[in-house]
Amino acid sequence: MADKIRVLVVGACGKMGSEVVRAIDGEPDLELVGAVDHSHTGEDIGSIALGRTNGVLVDNNLERALAKAEPEVCVDFTRPEGLFSRIQTVLNAGVHPVVGTTGLTQVELADLSELCNRLQKGAIIAPNFAIGALLMMKFAKEAARFFPAVEIIELHHPKKVDAPSGTAIKTAEMILETQTKQQSEATQIESVHGVRGGELGGVRIHSVRLPGFVAHQEVIFGGPGQVLTIRHDSMNRESFMPGVILAIRKVRELTGLVYGLDKLIGHHDDTDSI
Ligand code: NAD
Repeated sequence: MADKIRVLVVGACGKMGSEVVRAIDGEPDLELVGAVDHSHTGEDIGSIALGRTNGVLVDNNLERALAKAEPEVCVDFTRPEGLFSRIQTVLNAGVHPVVGTTGLTQVELADLSELCNRLQKGAIIAPNFAIGALLMMKFAKEAARFFPAVEIIELHHPKKVDAPSGTAIKTAEMILETQTKQQSEATQIESVHGVRGGELGGVRIHSVRLPGFVAHQEVIFGGPGQVLTIRHDSMNRESFMPGVILAIRKVRELTGLVYGLDKLIGHHDDTDSI
């Protein structure tokens, strides 16, 4: 068998990061070589995520961990603060980033794309790694050709730090690729401020944060006499793992930044594996 792909996980002790550690452990062609997190420094990541030691100790310094572990791919599921410079650090170390952390601005994405081109390095940043969510966005883009108005409701667990979700923003952007301006009816009287949600290019977005939810979204299209609702539910974090694993395998073949996993699943064989 060819050499295993060496992977470092940043945010390895978090909910998504530890799920990624478990997913990597289940893939024969991948090897976890490093774990970075602000918490559990010096502890064995295997004890935290796998229920057995694996000899990889949690480091709280990304530069040091990159130099020590020499990964080919660095997966980031952390928080938006410092994310931009973390991705720059990874790229400048010659490592391919796979980023699930949401919250980067359009300007930051453009700057990172430029850096990837300059370094001739592949990177993947995806606001949603779940295949069902990708299909929901794709179907929403298709439906936008036929309906004059749309609103998005995204529902997440209350610990999510950013609102709206990266998926909701990406969905609105994809809808706007089809229709440059969506009709958003102005409300005559808004007795509770903000009750009609936020707006991106005419697409209304509503963010719900409640215990019990993981990651869910409804895209509701309205037209004369009919309504079309497209809904996706991630019931647990395992739903994101096939997409993350696909990105780890693909990123090394890329040159430049790919934003959104949809660009990687055009081929039948890839979709089968998700
Ligand atoms: P979490 O709070 O459970 O985990 C975050 C972890 O990152 C924590 O262990 C924390 O200590 C660590 N951390 C924070 N800042 C750090 C830093 N600067 N350096 C090193 N470690 C740091 O959060 P979570 O639920 O795992 O979500 C993480 C991110 O993933 C969020 O941005 C969330 O929106 C995103 N997310 C993306 C997808 C997707 O498909 N793209 C799916 C789910 C969640």
